[in-house]
Amino acid sequence: MFPKTDKIWMDGKFVNWDDAKVHVLTHSLHYGLAVFEGIRCYNTEQGPAVFRLKDHIERLFKSAHIFTLKIPFTEEEIFEAVKETIRVNKINSCYIRPIVFVGYGNMGVYPKNNPIQVAIAVWSWGAYLGEEGLQKGIRVKTSSFIRNHVNSNLSRGKVAGYYVNSQLAKIEAISCGYDEAVLLDTEGYVSEGSGENIFIVRKGILKTTPLTSILEGITRDTVLTIAKDLSIETKEERFTRDELYISDEAFFTGTAAEITPIREVDDRTIGIGSRGPITEKIQNLFFDIVKGKNSKYQRWLDFV
Ligand code: PMP
Repeated sequence: MFPKTDKIWMDGKFVNWDDAKVHVLTHSLHYGLAVFEGIRCYNTEQGPAVFRLKDHIERLFKSAHIFTLKIPFTEEEIFEAVKETIRVNKINSCYIRPIVFVGYGNMGVYPKNNPIQVAIAVWSWGAYLGEEGLQKGIRVKTSSFIRNHVNSNLSRGKVAGYYVNSQLAKIEAISCGYDEAVLLDTEGYVSEGSGENIFIVRKGILKTTPLTSILEGITRDTVLTIAKDLSIETKEERFTRDELYISDEAFFTGTAAEITPIREVDDRTIGIGSRGPITEKIQNLFFDIVKGKNSKYQRWLDFV
């Protein structure tokens, strides 16, 4: 069962969870244009703290900008509304889902003057790829579906419709017995997971896909920052699937997936076949930071 909370913020007001409804002819439901965010709030010793909230709200507004959607609230208003939604629901750690969508009005592809609606829901959500996955790593399949071309998916935007491509990959991976998919780009280079960015470690160097066909992940940026602070050499450089196969370590990053080690790709063992030492070091620091145990990175925490 879905872990319901009490209230959902909808267009500036709180409504009961079960009453947060839209008309079946809501434009976004038919044509896929909705921009959204996935954010996490962690419980810390100083109370609940949202991780990099400003960066997530900024990305939400940039996603809307790419699609010329005019959000009828300011960034500050949405920022405050997220914190208020957590407070109202009296929840200490949660996943946060703000969504901006084209409401009910006209039909047809062109969104015309349909209202732009905004909702924010929060709920308790554990490890996205499983607690065991976080510890031991997951099994991944290279998808037969490719990430859309950079001029089809304007990938700096986090847009509902793009996740149809992700779902093709995820459904295929699960039905073949894997935990997650990795997609290649239109030129055959490794792009990202269905909802995660990807990193590999080879000869002590940490490498991730450059910002081309991928979402500009906030966890990706966090990992690049903390790796530099740990004196690990980093590169944002394209790599092929065979380089992934022979990497010493690999992991996915994402707000939902956090830092999930990859132990196998297409039935090839990666490194030692479980979480590698550099992955573990980065993962430990990441969890210390989000849980408020490392004062050096307090700037990334917004206390509720
Ligand atoms: N790529 C895709 C396709 C995603 O859906 C996500 C999750 N938002 C990511 C990467 C990781 O982004 P972030 O670290 O900001 O959650």
